[in-house]
Amino acid sequence: MSAFRAKSRHLHALASDFLPTNLPEWTESQKSVREAISKICLDYPDEYWAEHDTEHKFPWELYKQLAENGWLGICLPEEYGGSNLGISEAAIMLQTLSESGGCMNAASSVHMNIFGLEPVVKFGSDEQKKRFLPPLIQGKDRACFGVTEPNTGLDTLRLQSSARREGDNYILTGSKIWTSTGQVANKILILVRTTPLADVKKLTQGLSLFYTDLDRSVVKVTEIPKLGRCAVDSNVVFFEDWKVPAEDLIGQEGDGFKMIMHGMNAERVLVGAEALGIGYAALRRASVYAKERVVFGRPIGQNQGIQHPLAECWMNLEGARLMIYLAGRLYDEGYADGEYANAGKFMAAEAAFKAAERAVMTHGGMGYAKEYHVERYLREATLSRIAPISEELIKCYIGQRVLGLPKSY
Ligand SMILES: Cc1cc2nc3c(=O)[nH]c(=O)nc-3n(C[C@H](O)[C@H](O)[C@H](O)COP(=O)(O)OP(=O)(O)OC[C@H]3O[C@@H](n4cnc5c(N)ncnc54)[C@H](O)[C@@H]3O)c2cc1C
Repeated sequence: MSAFRAKSRHLHALASDFLPTNLPEWTESQKSVREAISKICLDYPDEYWAEHDTEHKFPWELYKQLAENGWLGICLPEEYGGSNLGISEAAIMLQTLSESGGCMNAASSVHMNIFGLEPVVKFGSDEQKKRFLPPLIQGKDRACFGVTEPNTGLDTLRLQSSARREGDNYILTGSKIWTSTGQVANKILILVRTTPLADVKKLTQGLSLFYTDLDRSVVKVTEIPKLGRCAVDSNVVFFEDWKVPAEDLIGQEGDGFKMIMHGMNAERVLVGAEALGIGYAALRRASVYAKERVVFGRPIGQNQGIQHPLAECWMNLEGARLMIYLAGRLYDEGYADGEYANAGKFMAAEAAFKAAERAVMTHGGMGYAKEYHVERYLREATLSRIAPISEELIKCYIGQRVLGLPKSY
């Protein structure tokens, strides 16, 4: 770890610095989040993440340490035990966890606690907030998020899982896919249709949101073998005649899509920040290796074929970082449209993927070896290009909403 520490500070930060704390654009509160999370990250070096990724082990040690130090409530209300900071600060927290070398394995282990319950904060009753938020902030409850379905994918409005009211309960039947942390969660925030499509005027109507116990006696959760982020599971979830108490319905029946949408821009900012972290981690390893590895009698980084692509990666990451921070600030100021959050997530995911790819190429054969960790970074950098929204759908959004072109999906 010490090999990555800065020796001098002529610039704001060298790409080889380990978690620099003085980058431009950071507010005092962002800097203090960065400093505190960086200290925690020192206990979780790349070797920890490589082991947990290889052995598919959830990073309980980090999760518990963050919970004990109050970090899981970073942007939840103070009255329930949170710190009431903004998405701008949460983005720094998740970027830092990822940038430490933990990548998505680190960020995804707490992602849902950090912001997933925003619909409960905004639309839940006081009784629900008292019941749901403190255990989540304390790390006692772990929540997963069930929106994506096997048959409908990105076409969320046509999702097929349904619920019907029976007395004091709703009866849920259907399936979800990719539900992350389903193996370790005891709660689920789930979106289902309560009014059939044929009976609504608009597709956006008739979906309802529940935050409830993940009752494994009726819900079957099966892990999906996957490319990366292997310390944090993703699952197929099946349920039939699952009795969910009506008191776990969030907001009004039929308003679920509106509530989910509310948190979407913030989630894009957070995922973008997590991607940035991978990109900077990759660039750190690449620049250190390029300086040290000598072939043909000189460091490989003296060759412009190695140096220039890395310089480009830094510029792309910095451009994406400014866009992500702008989107976070706008969200915290109450701006509700999504062009900067979507564009920032797009740019960050692309920049991170490119940086991870260049880090592998810079290491030559050793880039393919697990020992240098960049192959793990590359696997992890793929995810933010796909989820929570794909690159194609972001371009559809920008095309329609910013360019004013016809809706294409
Ligand atoms: C590791 C992982 C973790 C995840 N965790 C969760 C989770 O916790 N909870 C959850 O609900 N979901 C989760 N997801 C799901 C994720 O959000 C979706 O995979 C993502 O939104 C893409 O949906 P899809 O896979 O169904 O793709 P599809 O909808 O099947 O699309 C396939 C491809 O076609 C493209 N495409 C589709 N329609 C169009 C169009 N009209 N124009 C252009 N291109 C189009 C898409 O962009 C995509 O590239 C996770 C996914 C992964 C991989």
